[in-house]
Amino acid sequence: MANLPEWRLKQQIVEVGRKMYERGLVAASDGNISIRARGQRLWITPTGICLGEIQTRHLVCVDRAGRTIGPGTPSSEMALHASVYSHRPDVVAVVHAHPPIASAFTYAGRADLLARQVLPEVVLTFGSIPTTDYATPASPEGPLVIQDLIRDNDALMLDRHGSLTVGADVLDAYYKLEKLEHAATVILAAERLGGARALSDDELARLGQ
Ligand SMILES: [Zn+2]
Repeated sequence: MANLPEWRLKQQIVEVGRKMYERGLVAASDGNISIRARGQRLWITPTGICLGEIQTRHLVCVDRAGRTIGPGTPSSEMALHASVYSHRPDVVAVVHAHPPIASAFTYAGRADLLARQVLPEVVLTFGSIPTTDYATPASPEGPLVIQDLIRDNDALMLDRHGSLTVGADVLDAYYKLEKLEHAATVILAAERLGGARALSDDELARLGQ
């Protein structure tokens, strides 16, 4: 992935943006995607354009000091993305979305249900899905509330403001988002059926946790 040419990496952002919009993981011009390119530059989606309609020419390049290079205005969550990269040298892509079911748990004050270790495949991929403290969207609080949890987690919920997933490339970060929303959907259904059962210590141990 790291060896792919930059034009192909930008094309992958466009492809992932379309998937996110078509699957209802963002609405209107919500959500944003970035990748870390050579020289610590970032390519990030712009503000004010629907992720379902973004083209590579809309992507905005930002240098390591946070200055925009070339045309376009970066997403208002640029500082959130930059903060992830500063805490996670291993991360190459960041996806922020508004997945409706997973977000609903945080709006209802039931993020504890997402954090419980219920689905074996989620435990193997993420460990668990923790939720940060609340921060006003696009404010300087955003980078602060994620800094502890992002060090050890590839998938977070932002309290009453969607999700943050990271990965070794943009598809990896996107698939973690898809998995997070799927897990939330299953947990919600299980709660309606009488309650989701958390994996026992013995079951977790057998998963290598
Ligand atoms: Zn948002």
